[in-house]
Formats: sequence, structure tokens, C-alpha cells
Amino acid sequence: EDNSNKEPTCFSSLIPGWFSEISPMWPGEAHSLKVEKILFQGKSEYQNVVVFQSSTYGKVLVLDGVIQVTERDECAYQEMIAHLPLCSIPNPKKVLVIGGGDGGVLREVSRHSSVEQIDICEIDGMVIDVSKKFFPDLAVGYEDPRVSLHIGDGVAFLKAVPEGTYDAIIVDSSDPIGPAQELFEKPFFQSVANALRPGGVVCTQAESIWLHMHIIEDIVTNCRQIFKGGVIGFMLCSTEGPPVDFKHPVNPIDDSGSHTYAKAPMKYYNSEIHSAAFCLPSFAKKVIESK
Ligand code: SAM
Repeated sequence: EDNSNKEPTCFSSLIPGWFSEISPMWPGEAHSLKVEKILFQGKSEYQNVVVFQSSTYGKVLVLDGVIQVTERDECAYQEMIAHLPLCSIPNPKKVLVIGGGDGGVLREVSRHSSVEQIDICEIDGMVIDVSKKFFPDLAVGYEDPRVSLHIGDGVAFLKAVPEGTYDAIIVDSSDPIGPAQELFEKPFFQSVANALRPGGVVCTQAESIWLHMHIIEDIVTNCRQIFKGGVIGFMLCSTEGPPVDFKHPVNPIDDSGSHTYAKAPMKYYNSEIHSAAFCLPSFAKKVIESK
């Protein structure tokens, strides 16, 4: 259905012709982008889905009023959430993505030739359909034949996974309001730990040190109780087993051969930025080290 002529509510009267991201997740501020054209708006079983063409950030995917992807800088997010864990262990073979329906993380996982199986569990089929239509550079990840798509709740999916199945689990979730709430809670991290092999790794979207230190504190506390070691940015943890040194990646990615499915080279990730990602500003270090 083409709803592109109707004005959704998030295109607020705050600044006419602009999209404003207003949420209790960041009280007192609203990130705004100038809108060229509204391309899609719909309501799925789980959330409101909007796509618009912005004037300077390319196409933008919005779920429940919150920006998920902007074409201009999505590379930074997708490359880091995928390659930080996958480059930290030798020969990852089985990888699970929770959320990530846009396909961008799949595109990055597909660059790893050691990988044999990529499972993805996304709750909302509409996100996948919209991405295939409007974000072909992200949805290209679905073209990799190693990918198996499961549409459903990531929490339930993980509970049914046999113990020790995956080498790496990547949690590319939305914010902890709405369907992703449980993906930030302790029972979920326990299921993640069970589904990983000894020495397996998890990387989860862990919000912003400027806006969400309280959420990060909870994630760190939950994970410290379950995993042996962990560092924030994205939150990276490993199960007990062969030791994983996240700061010194043992499995550097050879970008020259990584475009089979991704179609284009990486734009953001390299080994230097990997190691540098574990340096934290003093205020964040203090809070995290106290947990
Ligand atoms: N890749 C994006 C980026 O660049 O920032 C991140 C967001 S991605 C679109 C988040 C996805 O998580 C959404 O498509 C949402 O439907 C999905 N999701 C939320 N809760 C979920 C759950 N419980 N199980 C599986 N997927 C979930």
C-alpha cells in the first residue's frame, strides 16, 4: 500500500518539513533531519515503520519514531557490530544475528569466508520487506546462500537453540522500549551464553555513553554476572573456554576477497579502529570499572 502522501505524526510541527526524533529515551533533545520525501509508512504487528528520503543522510528507516538506519553512515554501525566479534575469534563458522532485519549485519557477516551458517531471527517481517524495497545496499546481505531467515521473537528462538551451537551471536536490536525490551534483560543474556560454544563471543548493541549510561550500567551488571569478561562500546563478551582477547583481533579480515555477497568493500572497519574501539573516555571507564 502506498501511504506516501499521508503525513505521519513523527513529521512533527516542531519544524515544518523536518523529521524530529522525540523519545523518552533522550529527554530534552530531538535529533532532526530535513525530509525530501516520505517513501513509506505502515504499521506492522509490532511497530510503526517509516522510510523517508532525507536531504543529506540518504534514505532513513524509522521504527516507532526512532531512527534505525541512515544510508550515509550505516557502514560504521554494521561493520563494527559484525567485525568486532568475528575478527576476535579464529575461524568463526556458525553465526546468529538477533534483530537486524534490514540485512546490513548479514552483509558484513557475509565477508567472512570461514563462516558456514548464518541464522537470523527478526521479529518483524515488515522491516525485511521494506529494506528489500528501499535499502538494497543493506538487504544485499540476504543474497548470501549461507543465510537462514527465521521470523519470530529472538528471545523464544534462543531458548530453543541447543547448548553450545554458535561461535558468535550478534544482537542488532532496537532500543529497550517495545519489542526489544527483553533483549536487554538478564534471562536473555543467559540464553545467549548457553547458545554459545565455550570461548564463543556475543556483541550487542549497547546504546550511547552520552545518553544511556544507566542502561549500559544494567547491561554491564547483567553480563558480568553471566560472562567471564566484557567490554563496552558495543558490549562484547565471551563464554568461558579458549580465551578471547578482544583488543588484539586474531582473525583480521582480508577485504580484498570479502565482496562476494556484500558487493562493495568495507568503508569503516580496520584492525587499528578495532583495537582503538576499546579505549573509553574517563567518565565511562569509571562507571564500567565500578560494576
Ligand atoms: N541495523 C540497525 C542500525 O543500523 O542501527 C539497527 C536496528 S535493527 C533495524 C533492529 C531490529 O530488531 C528491528 O528490525 C526490530 O524489529 C528487531 N527486533 C526488536 N525486538 C526483537 C525481538 N524481540 N526479536 C527479534 N528481533 C527484534
